[in-house]
Amino acid sequence: MVDHGTGPASRALFERALRVIPGGVHSPVRSWRDVSGTPLFIESSRGAMISDVDGRDYVDFCMSFGPLIFGHGDPDVRRACVAAIDRGWSFGAAEATSLELAELIVSAIPWVDAIRFVNSGTEAVMSAIRLARAVTGRSRVVKFDGCYHGHTDAMLIRAGSGLAGQREASSAGVPDGVTTDTLVAHLDDEETLEQLFTKHPDDIAAVIVEPLPANYGLLPQREQFLQFISELCRTYRALLIFDEVITGFRLGFAGYAGATGIYPDIVTWGKIIGGGFPVGAFAARHEIMEHVAPAGSMYQAGTLSANPLAMTAGLVTLRKLQNETVYAALEELGAYLRDQFDGIDGLAVQQQGSLFWLLPGGMSQVIRRPDRIPAIARERYTELFHDALARGAYLPPSPHECGFLSTAHTRENVNLLRDSLLSDL
Ligand SMILES: *Cc1c(COP(=O)(O)O)cnc(C)c1O
Repeated sequence: MVDHGTGPASRALFERALRVIPGGVHSPVRSWRDVSGTPLFIESSRGAMISDVDGRDYVDFCMSFGPLIFGHGDPDVRRACVAAIDRGWSFGAAEATSLELAELIVSAIPWVDAIRFVNSGTEAVMSAIRLARAVTGRSRVVKFDGCYHGHTDAMLIRAGSGLAGQREASSAGVPDGVTTDTLVAHLDDEETLEQLFTKHPDDIAAVIVEPLPANYGLLPQREQFLQFISELCRTYRALLIFDEVITGFRLGFAGYAGATGIYPDIVTWGKIIGGGFPVGAFAARHEIMEHVAPAGSMYQAGTLSANPLAMTAGLVTLRKLQNETVYAALEELGAYLRDQFDGIDGLAVQQQGSLFWLLPGGMSQVIRRPDRIPAIARERYTELFHDALARGAYLPPSPHECGFLSTAHTRENVNLLRDSLLSDL
């Protein structure tokens, strides 16, 4: 192990955790297995910084994997949440905060008339797929290799290693029936997708895609490709689902769909929409959302859905994001990061706004699909991660995760990361 950055207090906690929690963590990437290390235990955070239980401070480039666009402990979110907690933190009844958040989103996003809040991105996707099936009366769903849509059974499917069109579960415990109904296409590849539609013209309920895939590194897609997906869906009367759990409200208020003008039938959100609390959402036009219970017959529910505290954090966060200067500032810092890293030998960076992905080993052209990622990038990331950590920069603990900037980050923070990487390469 190369975990020279992990102090004794974190190590002791991790040993305890391994006894009572599978792999010591509640979500696999937190275990640092991808970077052969022992995870830090975080004690507190503020702005762009996190502090571990050994009293060490780091510039955080992981930012809870996306929700914290204003950094840790944003004072406006904090103030509103403290006031909300005084009013009560769960009613299991109608309340106005979720209504305000719903109205704010629906009025700002042109392809959406109604929204339902859930508790995670996974739940949002699970519900969106059920909704697409309810609306179309069809059962099959197309997803793309290299997109992540949470851990609902139907989405834990990858392309099989054998014949073209074969697919297999990417997790134990996913039944065969589910693998039959999920079809897998390739990013940046019109042909396979068209073949799937030709083969199953009347069976496909929906195509789900991350319009800017950001869970297998950052894999920007050609706009024509997204346009092609959208047109095929229209031709075959399948619904288009944009999973914007990570990109929603990050690249602009209307997400990637807003930036490209390619609108989905159903959109899923998460991460930023809860301001750092557990929230997900799915939204669509009225004629689609009318199928959702109790308005319609597609069942969907949640004891803690639209939790007032989480809705408050989301509402404050989204109101702050309506000030467009926020995105301009994030855009500028992202471009600064790219410029700083671009010329470094043996390192490539793919970046969009405040999302970035570091590829040690470099590359000759834009990478748009996972099978084009050079194996060396993965191998070298471990070293890069630990060297950055030793100099006070906390990168995502996996070569497949994107880095995140927030409005709390500064050019000095970026310079620190750059210098730590320079000393390594
Ligand atoms: C994070 C993510 C999910 C899953 O969200 P959870 O809240 O972790 O369940 C789904 N889709 C995308 C695109 C994501 O980035």
